[in-house]
Amino acid sequence: MSAGMNDLLALEKAHLWHPFTPMAAWCEEGHEPLQLVSGRGCTLTDQHGREYLDGNASIWTNVHGHAHPVINAAIVEQLQRVAHTSFLGFTHEPAIRLAKALVDLFPSEKLTRVFYSDNGSTAIEAAVRMALQFWQQQGQPERNTLLAFDRGYHGDTLGAASLGGLPVFKGSANDFGYQVQRVPSMEALAHVDATQLAAVIIEPLMQGAAGMRLWPAGMLKQLETWCREQDVLLILDEVMTGFGRTGTMFACEHEGVVPDFIALAKGLTGGYLPLSATLTTDRIFEAFLKPEHTFYYGHSYTANQLGCVAALASLQVFQDERLLEQLPAKVAQFSRALDVFRAHPKVLEVRQCGMMAGIEVRSEMLVGARICIEARKHGLLTRPVLNTLVLMPPLCVTEAEMQRMVEALRRALG
Ligand SMILES: *Cc1c(COP(=O)(O)O)cnc(C)c1O
Repeated sequence: MSAGMNDLLALEKAHLWHPFTPMAAWCEEGHEPLQLVSGRGCTLTDQHGREYLDGNASIWTNVHGHAHPVINAAIVEQLQRVAHTSFLGFTHEPAIRLAKALVDLFPSEKLTRVFYSDNGSTAIEAAVRMALQFWQQQGQPERNTLLAFDRGYHGDTLGAASLGGLPVFKGSANDFGYQVQRVPSMEALAHVDATQLAAVIIEPLMQGAAGMRLWPAGMLKQLETWCREQDVLLILDEVMTGFGRTGTMFACEHEGVVPDFIALAKGLTGGYLPLSATLTTDRIFEAFLKPEHTFYYGHSYTANQLGCVAALASLQVFQDERLLEQLPAKVAQFSRALDVFRAHPKVLEVRQCGMMAGIEVRSEMLVGARICIEARKHGLLTRPVLNTLVLMPPLCVTEAEMQRMVEALRRALG
């Protein structure tokens, strides 16, 4: 290692604090963290020039691969004009064009309003605040409770973490600022007093942070029907499932569901820049039109111009590369590649939804993290959820790359 690299590593350990990371072990002298210095397609390169396949799409964000020429060019072109301007009292063309493009992705023309923020957690918070304020303004302040599902995950800010049903992510956030009721399943809704509910929130089709857990087929449609009958608003958290991950553009398409709110983030910019969007309906929007009902919420980097052009470019790539048409065949290839684990004696269960998979290892001990570290030696980067190994490649992944990913994990398991 060059002297420069040693200096950098010393500075890293002296000054950095990483998310979800036990920092004592991180800072130990023997630990040399990977520095990712470049990427192309599904491949990332570290400080020593070693190459890895990006097996979890850089924490579930990347869609078309790294350094895609169309997305890179769009960002560079916008950068020559201006990088960021305030969205409070001003507007700009990339945000307008992106809003129209997002609205057009939903067939029913029902989700007509787009509210931008910077990440998945704040996209969820915006939806929750809109739902609560909506009922106050409708003269039904008793509808002050959010219904969420056990093991759900909706982000890490206090408001978003309050919805979560996974203790490990809650930290100090215990139902902060509003009421949350949690249920294990659709069946449990029979015992819920819906007159107190502002909204129901769910990760459609698959709970990600819970370890890639699938909901029963048809459940989302049943939930939508229940919400309509009870006049409870439906919030879909498609932060993970959006932008092709499930095999269609959005998970809600699988069951023909149109929610009152949808939160989009991770894949929105193709995984290039932090930007998120909360889409909602005319019904919700119109309840905020009186001056005294103004939605007083927002962030400094709302509708960042670089993020908006990256998102537009990502949607362009979906079209140029006819990605949605290719996805069913890719999903089938992915499924075949995962067969290795379906028959594997050390694997308890393989759970797949589109291009997302959780491979749960059969073990009494926590071994997921060790297996993923081992997989690096075989050229694969990914992170587990406890003992569930996650494979969620960028959608541009080739069949050969899928096979290399699976082979790296298989060798790490052995
Ligand atoms: C990642 C994630 C979030 C939070 O998004 P951030 O951008 O990390 O704040 C929320 N919901 C789901 C389902 C997620 O996977």
